[in-house]
Amino acid sequence: MTIKDRVLLIEDERSIGNLIATLLEANGYDVITARTGQEALSLATSHCPDVILLDLGLPDMDGMEILRAVREWSVIPILVVSARTEEKDKVAALDAGADDYIVKPFGTAELLARIRAAIRHTRTASGNAQLAHSGIFTVGGLSIDYNSRRVYVDGVDANLTQNEFRLVALLGRYAGRVITYDAIIRQLWGPNVKNDNQILRVNMANIRRKIEKNPADPQYIFTEARVGYRMADAVPGYETDDNSD
Ligand code: CA
Repeated sequence: MTIKDRVLLIEDERSIGNLIATLLEANGYDVITARTGQEALSLATSHCPDVILLDLGLPDMDGMEILRAVREWSVIPILVVSARTEEKDKVAALDAGADDYIVKPFGTAELLARIRAAIRHTRTASGNAQLAHSGIFTVGGLSIDYNSRRVYVDGVDANLTQNEFRLVALLGRYAGRVITYDAIIRQLWGPNVKNDNQILRVNMANIRRKIEKNPADPQYIFTEARVGYRMADAVPGYETDDNSD
């Protein structure tokens, strides 16, 4: 099973939308498309994409409204793709939390490069130096490969599902820090999910079965009772190689 990065493409012009969707699918992305602002907001919260491509001129609302709404609950990378070329439009979008601004018409290679850069930047924004350098986070025998979206335990693929991977990937980005249940649910399932930790507990139980030697006594992902989860940033008994470069 291949886990693909999911792109939410918000574009009301069919010809441009189809062109971009075809390009992205050919380059290994899973694409969902919205043609109106309402549809975009609904898909952003229900599908929790890995990156959003946002056209500003939409039939029912301005893309800036979508940008602000999504930024209230998520750090998903958002690339504005717009025909508006004025500096003030770019500045407003970037100030409102856009990660990048691409002017139409654009080159396909450039678009792909900037999508990769935005995803990479989000992954490294945690200040996790090891991850920033290699795209791989390793602690003890556990290794999270953010490029191939796979998790290995002592070199063996743990076969995580998409949701399980997203949860482990999120904790890995902030290894050593407690991430609250609320923050995890918001990032993974969007702001409209009932704040029910059950969905999280079920996923975590499955993850622990797959990655921990003894799920009842975990060495990689710890529960901070009534607060959240924390990924280990070191595991006793394993060599650390903090000085490697
Ligand atoms: Ca448009």
